[in-house]
Order: sequence, then C-alpha cells, then structure tokens
Amino acid sequence: MSEDVLHESLREYEGRPAAVSARGKDPVNEPMIRHWCEALGHPVPPDGSAPATMLQVWTMAGLSGQARRAGPYDALLGALEGAGYTSVVATDCEQEYVRELHPGDEITFDAVIESVSPRKATKLGTGYFVTTRMDIRAGGERAGTHRFRILKYRPAEGGRNAAPDAGSGRSASGRRPRPVVNRDNAGFWEGVARHKLLFQRCEACATPRLPWLPGCHACGSSEWRAVESAGHGTVYSYVVMHHPAFPAFDPPYAVALVELGEGVRLVSNITGVPCEKVRIGMPVELEFLRVDDDLELPVFRGAV
Ligand code: ZN
Repeated sequence: MSEDVLHESLREYEGRPAAVSARGKDPVNEPMIRHWCEALGHPVPPDGSAPATMLQVWTMAGLSGQARRAGPYDALLGALEGAGYTSVVATDCEQEYVRELHPGDEITFDAVIESVSPRKATKLGTGYFVTTRMDIRAGGERAGTHRFRILKYRPAEGGRNAAPDAGSGRSASGRRPRPVVNRDNAGFWEGVARHKLLFQRCEACATPRLPWLPGCHACGSSEWRAVESAGHGTVYSYVVMHHPAFPAFDPPYAVALVELGEGVRLVSNITGVPCEKVRIGMPVELEFLRVDDDLELPVFRGAV
C-alpha cells in the first residue's frame, strides 16, 4: 500500500537528468590507458587506442569529486533514504561501444535516470533498482553508452553479519560455505571428489593456472588440459583469523596461500599444526578434509 505509493512517486524521477553536459576530468590519455591495462592484466592496444571497456573511466570524478549542484538523482536517493531504504549496492552495468577512443579525445557526457523498478525482495533486503544511463561523447561525437544499476535497499533482519543461508533456516547457519561450481571450474571440483588436486596448463604456452579460468592470462589461449598436482607445497603467505567470527569457523585459525611445487597457488587451511606455528616457507602436504556429508576440501598438513 504505502510502498506502491512510494513507487509511484519514485517513477516521477524517470527521464530526469542525473548529469548535464558534464566533462571528463582528463582527455583520453596514454598514461591512464597504460595504468588501467597494467592493473587489469589487459594488453595495451598496439594502435594506442583505449580499450573499449575503459569507457566509464573517462567519466569518473576521482577522489576530488565532480563540481556539481545536487539534482534529481540526489533527490531520488534522498527520497529512498527517507523511506528507510538506507543501504546501497551496485548490481550491474551494461555498455555499448559506438566509436574507438584515442588519446586527445575530449569526453563529455549526459546522464539520465532511466528507470526505477517496483519494490523487489532480495537476499540483502527489499528495495528498488535504479538504472542510470550515461551517454558519452568524444569531441562531440557519440562514443558509447554506459548503463549503471544500483539496488537501494532496507537491510534484511539480522544485519549484514547474518548467515546468508537463504531457504535453509538457522540449522544450516553453522555450515561451511559451499563452493560455487560452474562450467569454468567444475573440473576442479570433480578432481576434489576423486582426491586429486587439478590445475590447468595452457596448451599454447604451458603456463599453469589455478583457480580455473576459461582462458590463459599469459597468452589468451582457451586451449588447456588438466594436470594433477603432486600435492607438495610451501606456505607462501598466511593470516590467522581471530575476528570477525563466522558461525562455521572456530577462531583462531590459519588461512594460508599455499604455493604448490608446480608453480600455482591456492588459498586453503593448514591442518596438523597449531595456527601460531604456521610460518611462511613451511613445507605442507595436500590432504582432503571431509567437512560434512556433502563437502570435501583440499587442505594442507603442515610439518613443524
Ligand atoms: Zn598460454
């Protein structure tokens, strides 16, 4: 009832501007392209153009912010906050690329509040999805579109530390988190079920990789084969968790980044050694830990 009234009033913001004739802080430039490529492990385009997926970078205001007056977008968020939808999470973005960007291109853009969804129930809480569309130009020519969606929501009961064990109730809150198995990493978990720790080796350049990914980060090839690790490793780095407490874990415990003899690393637990004895460089051996009826994990036994 009152929520429907709220949605009706929120919809009045649709089509209203979120930014008008805004200007990118810097023209498209080589140093930003290089830093972005280095940070993301993306090859620098040989022709000096900006990777298309950098589109939003040229509109970002940086830490110093964009000089602007509060407008309809701030009013929309204020209305949601006033109604108790105080939290925000960015959910997704969609981009369309119309023209390549090159160093020297001056960027201008307009943004509009495209839509406000009806009220939705999500795992985080109930709220409204707000979609903003930014039309980006280079030297006055259309260069691309960036659609950005946020969820402005009222946090679910229990706060953010509540176990997100939707559908299974409190009895499940003490269970270890389940792995997210998808078509890219299913082979890894099939290996675990057979007590084998499998990593991928690129067929084109022989670079090993773990966690499993569809392509090689060294050469881009999508050809690979699975290789079984011999299971000998060393602790490359580690932390001892004291806080915060999670229901499925009993602090303090060590979380280690283990480097395997084959040159790949994975995050795991160290067993057989008190957490205060774990050290960088400590030799460890692979073993499989049955956590519960349907979860088994590769872990590493330390030798003091
Ligand atoms: Zn490769």
